[in-house]
Amino acid sequence: MVTVLPTEQTKPSVTNDERLVAVCPASIRSDVSCATCGICAKPERRAIIGFPAHGTGAAKARKVFFMEPVPP
Ligand code: SF4
Repeated sequence: MVTVLPTEQTKPSVTNDERLVAVCPASIRSDVSCATCGICAKPERRAIIGFPAHGTGAAKARKVFFMEPVPP
């Protein structure tokens, strides 16, 4: 399972049902890539991988994350 995180979310967090949300390391470290990480490809992983929103949709993604109204 994966999720989108607010842009400023760079630390791991825990869901209400106590599942770990780990931040994709490639999004916060310049020395990590999918080739050196590969955690997404592990079917046995228990953590949810979170990707901080970026680009033109980041503000909208933040509103959705915090359940704020989003203009149509
Ligand atoms: S394998 Fe997944 S968690 Fe790891 S760097 Fe790539 S996208 Fe991020």
